[in-house]
Amino acid sequence: MYIAVVNLKKCNGCGYCVDACPSKCFEVSEGKCWAQRAVECTDCGNCPDICPEGAIGIAVGWGG
Ligand code: SF4
Ligand code: SF4
Repeated sequence: MYIAVVNLKKCNGCGYCVDACPSKCFEVSEGKCWAQRAVECTDCGNCPDICPEGAIGIAVGWGG
């Protein structure tokens, strides 16, 4: 499985990832992105490509 991980120190709250994610993994609140549904990630690759701050990584293999 895949899990989306956001580095909040880098995130600028632009919200591009919210619109880019087909699995609706992200929400922006109070100027930061929260991967509320991170475990729904399918590793489509959209968010690492679109994030202008390089704030998103995809972790692989947690939970088998
Ligand atoms: S695209 Fe990147 S900088 Fe913008 S809200 Fe998402 S994680 Fe934050
Ligand atoms: S890789 Fe795709 S499915 Fe996973 S969090 Fe990013 S946009 Fe969503």
